[in-house]
Amino acid sequence: MESDEEAGTGDHRAQAIVVGAGPAGSAAALYLARAGVDVLLLEKGTFPRDKVCGDGLTPRGVQQLVRMGVDIDAPGWTRTKGMRWVCGGRQVHIDWPRSGNHPDFGLTRSRHDFDDILARQAVAAGARLCLETKATGPLTDRAGRIVGVSALAGADRRPVNFRAPVVIAADGASARTALAMGLERDPGKPMATAARRYYRSEARTNDPYLELWADLLCSRTGRDLPGYGWIFPLGDGRVNVGLGALPHRGHGAVDLRATMEQWLTRMPAHSELREENADSPLRSAALPMGFNRRPQYRRGLLLVGDSGGMVSPWSGEGIVQAMEAGEVAAETVALALHRPTGLGREQVLHQYVSEVNRRWGRYYRLGNTVADLVFARYGYRPLLNRRVMASPALVHTLARLLTHGTDAPSDDLIDTVVRGLVRMVPAPSRRARGLGARGR
Ligand SMILES: Cc1cc2nc3c(=O)[nH]c(=O)nc-3n(C[C@H](O)[C@H](O)[C@H](O)COP(=O)(O)OP(=O)(O)OC[C@H]3O[C@@H](n4cnc5c(N)ncnc54)[C@H](O)[C@@H]3O)c2cc1C
Repeated sequence: MESDEEAGTGDHRAQAIVVGAGPAGSAAALYLARAGVDVLLLEKGTFPRDKVCGDGLTPRGVQQLVRMGVDIDAPGWTRTKGMRWVCGGRQVHIDWPRSGNHPDFGLTRSRHDFDDILARQAVAAGARLCLETKATGPLTDRAGRIVGVSALAGADRRPVNFRAPVVIAADGASARTALAMGLERDPGKPMATAARRYYRSEARTNDPYLELWADLLCSRTGRDLPGYGWIFPLGDGRVNVGLGALPHRGHGAVDLRATMEQWLTRMPAHSELREENADSPLRSAALPMGFNRRPQYRRGLLLVGDSGGMVSPWSGEGIVQAMEAGEVAAETVALALHRPTGLGREQVLHQYVSEVNRRWGRYYRLGNTVADLVFARYGYRPLLNRRVMASPALVHTLARLLTHGTDAPSDDLIDTVVRGLVRMVPAPSRRARGLGARGR
């Protein structure tokens, strides 16, 4: 995609700047533009480009794409009917629910063009996209408030300044902009690592289910992998195969490559998931989870997606979380810009933290606890035990919990149970939300 902003020396001004055009940044820019805000979307790379990911979306993610106006009937999208969990020699199929506002199908699409489509959507809504523009640091005023970013633009890496009263950091797991503003990662919160590789597989590429394995063993220790493995169909002759792990002191480092090789030897002899069918190198990346960087707003800077540690501690999903947070951030900024600068505007911007916590705080809090007590020690095997696998009601309840599939108004019993469970979790305190005296 071509950049529509001729980056050169001198300052560029806008009402809002978004750093990073992944799902979080493109969603934020799109909703800002829709609200009539003049927004610059800065992206260090070009599109299309690779991004290490499992490429899977649950119905909740599909709903967000529809809200963003993405044409999900166009070629290139692969629909899924549900999930297939494999554990202890058994497998269970869980169709996406037909209740609530969410569609009853999921989608897969390689991030190679998924992110390009989202960025185009933001541009179509009116955002000004600057490709090959790497933010190098915040510009701050005398009070330490962010008023823009410095950047290196174009192949010749020209220095450029971008200025706006509000900046949204959507620069992914590196979270450079947040770090430069003093927003450190909370080491007590989960941070997983995951790796994926593409394989050519005619047999599996149109599989209607996302396949998840809960009984993988670490290659080094022979203990349960503190995570799970996946095989996601891409509908273009390929599948995305990967696994993720949460670090735990009892496990030490997990060798994802060796563990994956060991796992794939368990596939049947005719399986196409073999070296000769590999279509890419194995690549890994970090998954910052459970709101592990807070507060999500400070001194003119809002954090969305991976830069705010918004990957779900339940499942490792982060795309829909990024898009949804992008929308909330955009709405907050659009409202704030209608206030004169000063305390009134600050109060509105701080509402972002409250809104993020109102929507997801309890769910993430419970997820962080389960991730620490269960997933990081024993993986998913205890949850997918023989009893649960044999009970459709329990399996569907678990699936709804893991994928946060309860957020749409629904009156089915599973929703009521899962929502009731999450509501019992105490809301995060001001301190837990990073809003202590220092946080402001
Ligand atoms: C192996 C693996 C598998 C995964 N599988 C899934 C899955 O199946 N489903 C799911 O929902 N989630 C999955 N995730 C998580 C998901 O990939 C992330 O949560 C999601 O990409 C977060 O989106 P984001 O926009 O916050 O960040 P990113 O997607 O990382 O986007 C950040 C963008 O910012 C740009 N950028 C970075 N620094 C700068 C800078 N200084 N200046 C300008 N631009 C910059 C980057 O180039 C990038 O385009 C997976 C993650 C991994 C590692």
